[in-house]
Amino acid sequence: MKPSEKEEEYFVRMEFEKKKKIEEEKHKKLAEKEKKRLKQLHYMQCPKCGMELIEIDYKGIKIDECSECEGIWLDAGELATVAKLEKTGLDKFFSIFKK
Ligand SMILES: [Zn+2]
Repeated sequence: MKPSEKEEEYFVRMEFEKKKKIEEEKHKKLAEKEKKRLKQLHYMQCPKCGMELIEIDYKGIKIDECSECEGIWLDAGELATVAKLEKTGLDKFFSIFKK
């Protein structure tokens, strides 16, 4: 191979890598768009039955209770917060959900 040919090969490769990067960026954006779409679709919907969740704020702990199946959902870190409640606090917390 002549040096000029090798150079040409190099530039073709570079061009490919450049285009590949652009495509990869597009894929990333697509994934973000899909994530956003799914969030809009599922936000505050019960993961089990699909009905609306109702937010209950108890001393800064935001509990989401399903309006249909009465399932209770906690956000990240909230279970640890609930676990740290004293016995009386815990009893009060659970009395919210008693029927
Ligand atoms: Zn439900």
